[in-house]
Amino acid sequence: MSFRLANLDGRAALVHGDHLVDLETLTDGAVGPDPMAALADLDALHAAGARVAEGDPTAALADVELDAPVPRPRNCFGVGLNYQAHADEASMDLPKAPLIFTKFPSCLVGPTAEVELRSETADYEVELVVVIGPGGRDIAADAAWDHVAGVTIGQDISDRALQFAAKPPHFDLGKSRDTYGPIGPFVVSTDLVPDPADLAITCDIGDVRRQDGRTSDLIFDVPYLISYLSSITTLAPGDLIFTGTPEGVGAMEGRFLQPGDVITSTIEGLGSMRNVCR
Ligand code: ZN
Repeated sequence: MSFRLANLDGRAALVHGDHLVDLETLTDGAVGPDPMAALADLDALHAAGARVAEGDPTAALADVELDAPVPRPRNCFGVGLNYQAHADEASMDLPKAPLIFTKFPSCLVGPTAEVELRSETADYEVELVVVIGPGGRDIAADAAWDHVAGVTIGQDISDRALQFAAKPPHFDLGKSRDTYGPIGPFVVSTDLVPDPADLAITCDIGDVRRQDGRTSDLIFDVPYLISYLSSITTLAPGDLIFTGTPEGVGAMEGRFLQPGDVITSTIEGLGSMRNVCR
């Protein structure tokens, strides 16, 4: 009862070993081709995951470029300053409540998509991204993981000049330029990772490791974020929460992303994304 959900040319597919299995074909049409529909029927998704070995391979993973595994969430939230060391490096006081912003869903791209730099102040932020399964309102923290379909990797690419252009700063625009939200490669059901609350998370630029943390260092953890957000707005299947980035972002040293930079984002048990800047 587990799955790795990918998006190949707009169609939901499950990962089995080194290949993909088309979800609609595997389920004889019981689950449609849209990855968003698959996330809205988590029982069917788990059942399909249990049968993935029976499916005919659709494509070898090595031969394809995947799209964002969650292509059209209704809402896409981000959390600022959610790691102690990152708040320290930013010389900002720890927030008393989660510092929530939105990444417009239109910024989301796949795990190998090019990041189109639009200014000289673009920065990387590797993050654990939570994908909501069964939605809801006023979700209790101790039930929060039951509302998670899975987790994936995200890059909260941030245009720092735009992020702080207004006073007081508002983060939404600077984090929502087109292509500034790579996610993937898969939505991984939480039973496939050892402990979703304590995963190694790293970001390399070229061959230099710039971020190296653990998700256990989150100030506001995943259950708290789900409880908090769902006390304000109803969470829907496929909604995304970028949970914040560990220390090591480029802005602290004035080293921003350059054309040709290769961003490699890795989280234990979830794989890696490789995005080239243009
Ligand atoms: Zn972020």
